[in-house]
Amino acid sequence: ASNKEEGGAKSAGGGPTIFDNIIAKEIPSSIVYEDDKVLAFRDINPQAPVHVLIIPKQRDGLTELGKAEQRHEDILGHLLYASKLVAEKEGIADGFRVVINSGPTACQSVYHLHLHVLGGRQLKWPPG
Ligand code: ADP
Repeated sequence: ASNKEEGGAKSAGGGPTIFDNIIAKEIPSSIVYEDDKVLAFRDINPQAPVHVLIIPKQRDGLTELGKAEQRHEDILGHLLYASKLVAEKEGIADGFRVVINSGPTACQSVYHLHLHVLGGRQLKWPPG
């Protein structure tokens, strides 16, 4: 369904997001890892020397982690394993962080589930 809502890609309503354009390669991205189910690319506004996003190629209702259903278990596991492959590829497997912001209170801005893989510097805790 097309998204005619005010806010477009920034809405939580389940319409298309900018990540659909990245999957379709309609807008450029710096791809780090790709397989048949997921795509990993560099964040355009990196918060660490390594900041990669990993997304499912088929959103299948996974706008945010808080909307996950049992049928998403396999892709969620695949995304998490892909984060380890990305960390290895990026040379940060000895210390990295995986973050999922779910919903407005967590400052999620793109409503297509994505994992942030962060590393390459000493990370602090807790995050803001
Ligand atoms: P936040 O924007 O608060 O980090 P999210 O968890 O929804 O919330 O993260 C969305 C991420 O997508 C942001 O880190 C942002 O920099 C990134 N992003 C947005 N547009 C692009 C793009 N065209 N290419 C790569 N990364 C993008």
